[in-house]
Amino acid sequence: MTTTTATATTTATPTAPAPAPAEDPRFPRPAHIAPAEWAARVQLAAAYRIFDRLGWAELIYNHISLRVPGEPGHFLLNPFGLHYSEVCAANLVKVDVRGNTVGHSAWPINPAGFTFHGAIHETLADAHCVMHVHTTATMAVCCLEDGLSFTNFYAAQLHGKVAYHDFEGITVHLEEGRRILASAAGKPVLLLRNHGPVTIGFSLANAFGLMWLLTRACEVQMASQAMGRLRPIAPAVLQACVRDSLNFNPKFGAGQDAFDALQRLVDRDDPSYRG
Ligand SMILES: [Zn+2]
Repeated sequence: MTTTTATATTTATPTAPAPAPAEDPRFPRPAHIAPAEWAARVQLAAAYRIFDRLGWAELIYNHISLRVPGEPGHFLLNPFGLHYSEVCAANLVKVDVRGNTVGHSAWPINPAGFTFHGAIHETLADAHCVMHVHTTATMAVCCLEDGLSFTNFYAAQLHGKVAYHDFEGITVHLEEGRRILASAAGKPVLLLRNHGPVTIGFSLANAFGLMWLLTRACEVQMASQAMGRLRPIAPAVLQACVRDSLNFNPKFGAGQDAFDALQRLVDRDDPSYRG
């Protein structure tokens, strides 16, 4: 190797890996689905597989819902009866805001799950993606009288972004969707008390970034609170953490780069979600 080559190698600007492609020639887009909808389906199916890898699946329950690009009032979500590891672009179900299937689907949806997703999508202009999980740490924090404690690195980045909704039972009633929305009051993270968390994103990656931060915050809180008194973080530092968090900064992908990395991980192991 020449000196020139070595210098060029060491001074080369690193470039980020390319995002996973929206379309893969091994899994062609069905002719009756528009390219924008298919891209959304592939991204959403990837999210379900990523949730499974992270241990965020809950049997056949819970939902991630995403708006269909260019089709106001239409949303995609998981077919009821399939595990997240079985969700793929083609079997995602398209529904309207009331949860009625749009077009043909071999699978039903779980109406209980879509109640509050539909209300949030319908009402909030920026709510492109809504995620809900039943992971142990997040549910445990939802069961605490004082809720999320802003005393760790991850929670600090969510300061001022968290709202609560009191438990009313299993969320199957349309009118509760509206009350849940009122409780959210514009916050992107909603903790359903005695139940579990909801994140509301201006993109799928944004909703994922919020759920990642919340999950890690709750895991750390569960561990640290079990050991003793939690040390407070000063309000000015909390505000700085929110300001400096890369998870919300468009210059750093606003969570898209992290999501892309996980999608590449799924692609390496099992790209079947693309079909
Ligand atoms: Zn739930």
